[in-house]
Amino acid sequence: MTPILEVRNLCHTYSAGTPFWRDALKDVSFSLSRGEILALIGHTGSGKSTLIQHLNGLIKPTSGEILLDGRNIWESAAFTRSVRFRVGLVFQYPEYQLFDETVYADIAFGPKNMGCGKEEIDRRVRSAAEIVQLTDAELAMSPFSLSGGQKRRAAIAGVLAMEPEVLILDEPTAGLDPAGSRRILRHVLDYRERTGAAVIFVSHSMDEAASCADRLLVLSEGECVMQGTPCEVFADAEKLTAIGLDIPEVTKVLLDLRDRGIPVDCSAFTVDAAAQAILQTRGDRG
Ligand code: ADP
Ligand code: MG
Repeated sequence: MTPILEVRNLCHTYSAGTPFWRDALKDVSFSLSRGEILALIGHTGSGKSTLIQHLNGLIKPTSGEILLDGRNIWESAAFTRSVRFRVGLVFQYPEYQLFDETVYADIAFGPKNMGCGKEEIDRRVRSAAEIVQLTDAELAMSPFSLSGGQKRRAAIAGVLAMEPEVLILDEPTAGLDPAGSRRILRHVLDYRERTGAAVIFVSHSMDEAASCADRLLVLSEGECVMQGTPCEVFADAEKLTAIGLDIPEVTKVLLDLRDRGIPVDCSAFTVDAAAQAILQTRGDRG
């Protein structure tokens, strides 16, 4: 089956032809299947935001291609416009972009822009609100009277209401406490579950990425330096450490055991899998 999204040899240079030019992306390629969750990881300045803004046509590639369901997103103006709705992008700190009088009106903005009728807008707003668990009373409130976590959920609902086939979130848990972060990720997984959409989310936390992504893509200085399942990526934990990126707590314990001469498989990143890996070495050694 054609991947829902394919990025081929994407390069982006900011301020090309000026003394301030900067290669923000260098030859990045990857593809994303329907229903798949990809976590994008890398230091500040590694190109994560630049990459995801290409995926719904906000930024044009310097070279390379982005295909949505097999079609180049820049193929025609009409197609590029439709991509803005089919690939939903939640910016970092999206709550700063709430602007309407009520939460309901804010969430309705996207579907209205898409040309949906009143009933369809209402269905979409209520369905998005249900996923992020906003109540009818909260929908009637001014977005400015909500708590930080509620505002974040309202802003995400505004993108969910467009019912995108690819949902992209730039650091959706930034600034939230662990409970608030888990809650947001649960809502994202719920959206994927209900719609079969593919998801890309940017994360600073390896533990967070490992806990909900099917695949990880690691960017460093604009280059894709690793991609694969969490198992595959954490099996090369030394490479992540060399780039200066964090590794999951569980993986740290396994690497420490290996440093002490215990031949343990270090690709585990959940407590259960690590326990299995450790028991396995005992079995191997009799
Ligand atoms: P990340 O999201 O991983 O922190 P960004 O994509 O924001 O990385 O930035 C990648 C690189 O591109 C950085 O060096 C950054 O300074 C530069 N950059 C980002 N946006 C712009 C811009 N609008 N103009 C010029 N340079 C930019
Ligand atoms: Mg960024």
